[in-house]
Amino acid sequence: MPELPEVETVRRGLDRFVVGRRIDAVEVGRERSVRRTSRQAVIDGLNGATILRAERRGKYLLNPLDTGDTLMIHLRMTGQLLLAEPGAERPPHTHVAMHLAADPARGLEPAELWFVDARTFGEVVVFDPEFVETELPEVAKLGLDPLVDAPTVTDLATVIGRRHMRMKPLLVDQHVIAGIGNIYADEILHRARVHPDTVASTLRRKDFVLLHDAMLSILTAAVRAGGSSLKDNTYVDLMGEGGSYQEDHRVYARAGERCMTCGRGVIRRLPFGGRSTHFCPVCQREKRGGASPTRPRAAR
Ligand SMILES: [Zn+2]
Repeated sequence: MPELPEVETVRRGLDRFVVGRRIDAVEVGRERSVRRTSRQAVIDGLNGATILRAERRGKYLLNPLDTGDTLMIHLRMTGQLLLAEPGAERPPHTHVAMHLAADPARGLEPAELWFVDARTFGEVVVFDPEFVETELPEVAKLGLDPLVDAPTVTDLATVIGRRHMRMKPLLVDQHVIAGIGNIYADEILHRARVHPDTVASTLRRKDFVLLHDAMLSILTAAVRAGGSSLKDNTYVDLMGEGGSYQEDHRVYARAGERCMTCGRGVIRRLPFGGRSTHFCPVCQREKRGGASPTRPRAAR
């Protein structure tokens, strides 16, 4: 599933090629992609509207329109946004097509913006941001975005430090930190030398310094690489190009390989929901009894 770096890469494409353009017409095929409202609501909401900005919060693309509404796109598992020439042959599973007007000032010809989604978990919604809490409650509840909010070490410690949650499920909880999923959670924990089962409230200041540095440096490098494109993954940018950050993964999908960081550990995989957590048992030692300080055993 596209995570923060992949969605940010798509956002940058929108910023460059789509912002400032008017949507002259909209076609909606599969109604499941617009299930939050309706086909007609999306068509009416976008027809004639100009996209003012391309913003992102977590994995949500949020595009304010000149009508006062916002166009939200979530790619979920297999969603793609592709820019194409008008009339170009559309790939299977193109569920929404927006016809974009030319922007001569920027030398942009008319184009089509396609929302393509094989598994149709993704969504296209036009909503009034004033009513975000009722219309898109999960957006209103999103946690700290590591790039948009640029948290300090103290911000991170405040958000994470009091939670009695294990670090892996905590990092992928969108209400705590927005944008991180399975891949980047594993990579960040490995870089910060934190075992995925560590309870957040047992972390110390030095752990937060490492976590903060790992989170920002990995996400920034991944954005620079255009995100990660995996074999089982359909993520591409607006031009249909994959990212290259998968080449820099140290633990994700590397179970059984020797750790490139310490040279001693062999990457292990633990079940996590329907997926897996990957970590190095040498770099990321499990804290024993870390949840409560050691105290003398009570007399029997
Ligand atoms: Zn290691």
